[in-house]
Amino acid sequence: MFSKLIQNDFPLTQFTHKEGDLYKIITTYGKTFELRYGYYGECDRKYEPNVIYPDFIKQPLYTDNGEPFVTMVQDACKSYRGEAKRTPDTTCCECKYFQCGEDWIGICTCPKNKKNE
Ligand code: SF4
Repeated sequence: MFSKLIQNDFPLTQFTHKEGDLYKIITTYGKTFELRYGYYGECDRKYEPNVIYPDFIKQPLYTDNGEPFVTMVQDACKSYRGEAKRTPDTTCCECKYFQCGEDWIGICTCPKNKKNE
């Protein structure tokens, strides 16, 4: 009974976006990113697709000046400097080294994280 109620109130097949739909194309700090809807994990497939942001921890990317790209929601690294103490939930957007770009993508200005030539 309860599952039928959920099914009627929240039809699982009528999502606003489909996996692969374009969210937007942004250019920031000299690089262009094509952001699309999708899923971060298989267990998310019963929900509306999310905007998928690049995983710069798995696949680092740098500006021409050697600063690493980061996202606002990326786990803070050991070089984090912020008002609050770093916890497992702390993200780059809370760090003084985070510099905003477009949407949720920015760069890290920490000298320790800069790519050496
Ligand atoms: S902005 Fe840079 S220094 Fe700060 S937590 Fe993110 S990666 Fe680390």
